[in-house]
Amino acid sequence: MKKVRCPKCNSYTFFDETRYQPGQRLVFVCSECKKQFAVRTLSGSSQTPSDFLLKEENSEQEAFPKGGWVGSVIVVENTFHYRQEIPLEMGDNVFGRFVQGTNINKPIETVDPSVDTRHCIIRVQRGKDGQLQYILRDAPSGTGTFYMNEILRDQDRIRLQDGSVITIGATTLIIKLEC
Ligand SMILES: [Zn+2]
Repeated sequence: MKKVRCPKCNSYTFFDETRYQPGQRLVFVCSECKKQFAVRTLSGSSQTPSDFLLKEENSEQEAFPKGGWVGSVIVVENTFHYRQEIPLEMGDNVFGRFVQGTNINKPIETVDPSVDTRHCIIRVQRGKDGQLQYILRDAPSGTGTFYMNEILRDQDRIRLQDGSVITIGATTLIIKLEC
């Protein structure tokens, strides 16, 4: 059995993953708050709970390519967590460690104590040329945000590229811009 976390109330719903194919889109109704939400299974990856991506139903992000995705962030597996892929959306994507009652929109499922509950922000915006821009800044965090092994100063705004590597605490993030 695998579990998925409700994006509204954070309670877990369990399901039998062996009944589904990788890459399939599953719709759940939260047993606690009755919210309906969709989950997409990743193809070709190891079967861990974190391989199931949450994506809310009926969100306004649907207007954007790939069902609201304008790229994603790969959280590289380490001793604190499994590999995760977190979709990027327009506006501020606030990353940090998931805790109960979190109010950030891109929580990472990890027990890495050096990742703050609000650590760094990737802002996705459209430039004058019509191209999407991905801008990284520190939240600010206690342990700092590193871009290609260089720590960001408070005023730093880093333009990210496909494959950019960000380090927060002991956790590595890789940017995937595929749109
Ligand atoms: Zn719920």
